[in-house]
Amino acid sequence: MSGNEVDTLAVPATFDSVDPRNGELVAMYPIQQLHDVRDTVEQARADTDWWSGLSFAGRTRRLTKWRQLILNRFDELADLVSRETGKPSADARIEVVLGVDHLHWATKNAKRVLRRRHVAPGMLMFNHVATVEYQPYGVVGVIGPWNYPVFTPMGSIAYALAAGNTVVFKPSEYTTRVGQWLVDTFVESLGDEGMHRTPLRLITGNGITGAALCRSGIDKLAFTGSTATARRVMGACAESLTPVLMECGGKDALLVDSTANLKSAADAVVWGALANAGQTCVGVERVYVADAVAEEFISMVCDHVASLRIGGDTSADIGPITMPSQIDIIERHINDGVAAGGQPLVGGSSSVRPPYVSPVVLVDVPEDASAVTEETFGPVIIINRVPSLDVAVARTNASRYGLGATVFSRRNGNRAARSLRVGMVGINSILPYVAMPSLPFGGVGNSGFGRIHGADGLREFAMPKSVARKVLPAAMNPTSFNRPFWTVRALVSLTKSLYRW
Ligand code: NDP
Repeated sequence: MSGNEVDTLAVPATFDSVDPRNGELVAMYPIQQLHDVRDTVEQARADTDWWSGLSFAGRTRRLTKWRQLILNRFDELADLVSRETGKPSADARIEVVLGVDHLHWATKNAKRVLRRRHVAPGMLMFNHVATVEYQPYGVVGVIGPWNYPVFTPMGSIAYALAAGNTVVFKPSEYTTRVGQWLVDTFVESLGDEGMHRTPLRLITGNGITGAALCRSGIDKLAFTGSTATARRVMGACAESLTPVLMECGGKDALLVDSTANLKSAADAVVWGALANAGQTCVGVERVYVADAVAEEFISMVCDHVASLRIGGDTSADIGPITMPSQIDIIERHINDGVAAGGQPLVGGSSSVRPPYVSPVVLVDVPEDASAVTEETFGPVIIINRVPSLDVAVARTNASRYGLGATVFSRRNGNRAARSLRVGMVGINSILPYVAMPSLPFGGVGNSGFGRIHGADGLREFAMPKSVARKVLPAAMNPTSFNRPFWTVRALVSLTKSLYRW
């Protein structure tokens, strides 16, 4: 038997997507390899001239039909999200709402943000007309995670399509059915046209397929997932100098100042940390609360957490952990936090009952414990007391992650927001930037780089092209070997007189 035959036998050809609540099969898909992925990218490339050649209005018309179809089948999509992720119905519905909102914004604003515009030619080139236009990359690869299988990839897909790119989408193996639904409905919304061409295509598989997408000749890759995978993705894309957008993990903090409205802050912490069972990139994983209000605040959080209902029915507050391997990480963080001296006020290691993890509240956990430094991605709230808001800011900034943060303060919110080393800050409100399509979304440090959403998110999927056209003869022309001897001297004198002050 040759080495290749051994490989073929060892690698499964398909994978199952299952409902994490009961293990029921949702769908089965092929694990596509490099040659399949290249074929799909080539098909996408064949449609790029058509899609990029449409006017903004032409793309808007088609993306609007897709949005309307999603809205017509809203319940079907939300139910599918619940089936593949296990998340409660309310969480799934909120997610679809956000996805639709972004699709709407990207479609509505693409022309305003990306159309050709004039810029001042400047003193040296006053006799020219200068314009900047934003041209699509071509084929954009989108790799998505499972935790928000509609909202998260839509942040790249909608903006890349609106900017005139075609897209090849690889959803997470845990949520491929949702990915297929999105692609199928887009094709359906194109009507007869969709039988011949489409700007959005699906590939299915696992990490092998994702790695193949990086090496398939795409023109840009938009990745959302963990920091560890992001490193591998960047390595693969570096081989062909394929540009990348990285939306990675976080360890977001919520800071509670002594002047905060404690009731609102406690409510925000509980929802921000436990919605979607804590499986949110911008979820609240750490809380820093001012000593002066800590006792009252901690007891409000614990009372609220104790009232939540965990389960697999659609109306539960907290559903299961979608990815089985995450449960070990959550358990390790709880155990490390307690072993390091953290006090479990709600739950503890007994809260881990796969596929469910009941909420855990740990207080006074040392800052070097894994529960404070690493992304937990589960329903665990770490609350540490600090003497002041400035110390809370310093501790927040000590993380190697820097995705989002939240400040609750009646007086010092703006000051703290400016000092936080993160990509997004909410003040007296939990995750407001997620639901504001006009705001760019993304992080710093190990949370990644580049931005989805907003005008910056549209420009992320377009290459600026500068065009300068001579419209008048100039009195002097320094960019010629035939210039008179005095030209450069005159240019220097002019520069000194204009720019000295
Ligand atoms: P992973 O990093 O495990 O996977 C992300 C995607 O990458 C999946 O589609 C995965 O495929 C694919 N993949 C895996 N290996 C490779 C590879 N070698 N090359 C290319 N692609 C690969 O993340 P999760 O799916 O577990 O998602 C959770 C993470 O995503 C968390 O860290 C979370 O913070 C982050 N996230 C960040 C967001 C942001 O906007 N900053 C938003 C949402 C989540 P497969 O699943 O099939 O293995």
